[in-house]
Amino acid sequence: MRKSFVAGNWKMATTTAQAKALAGSLLDGITSVEGVDVAVIPPFLAIPAVVDLLRGSTIAVGAQDVYFEKSGAFTGEISCEMLIEAGCGFALVGHSERRHILGETDPLVRKKLDALLAAGMDAILCVGETIEEREAGSTEARLETQVRSGLEGVTLEQARRVTVAYEPVWAIGTGKTATASQAQEAHRFIRGLLAGLFDEETAGKMRIQYGGSVKPENAGELMTQPDIDGALVGGASLKPASFLGIVQAA
Ligand code: PEP
Repeated sequence: MRKSFVAGNWKMATTTAQAKALAGSLLDGITSVEGVDVAVIPPFLAIPAVVDLLRGSTIAVGAQDVYFEKSGAFTGEISCEMLIEAGCGFALVGHSERRHILGETDPLVRKKLDALLAAGMDAILCVGETIEEREAGSTEARLETQVRSGLEGVTLEQARRVTVAYEPVWAIGTGKTATASQAQEAHRFIRGLLAGLFDEETAGKMRIQYGGSVKPENAGELMTQPDIDGALVGGASLKPASFLGIVQAA
């Protein structure tokens, strides 16, 4: 399977001018890299400018979040239709910062995923355990709850439009990466859950990205693991050379 990289979870860390500059540098650098899929997920306000800049390129543009309702009195929220109009083909749901800082629950994450799929968009479902859960030996239980709640009842056709991102909460933005074997173990477990929810063939075609302090120095080993199909990169994607180093390491 082609590896896929979400280069830029740029979080709330870029103005539109900065996002355009980053996207421009990626565009210049990525032309030499073949055989991988690359996407960026700028903050909402920067999406139209980044879409304009990347038009005609192979770099896709997604969103960091979405609201599940189609329209109405939901002050401050952004719908799938608005994202599609802006040029986004996919969005993240359930990023750990939204779960742990903004209080998003599994049922809310599921509603967002359903809304994306119903709108014809792709989705990246983020899952991952906290350090307390890992130390208590409940990593698999946590992943199972998040994956089942996120995907149970999704059709086979829809499942092919979903990527799962395994992002251990303790590794995001902390500089502590899961070892390649810890990540592979979690990815293999998630692949097994997907096979149970769908079938082996579908599970084999669904991408499972790893996220959590991925850098050029650790990307090579992570990406050679059989169940790691790409990376969701936050901090390192704010430096084009680091992000390109990650893609090249694959
Ligand atoms: C993320 O924001 O999803 C992420 C993985 O961040 P970082 O690469 O900085 O750990």
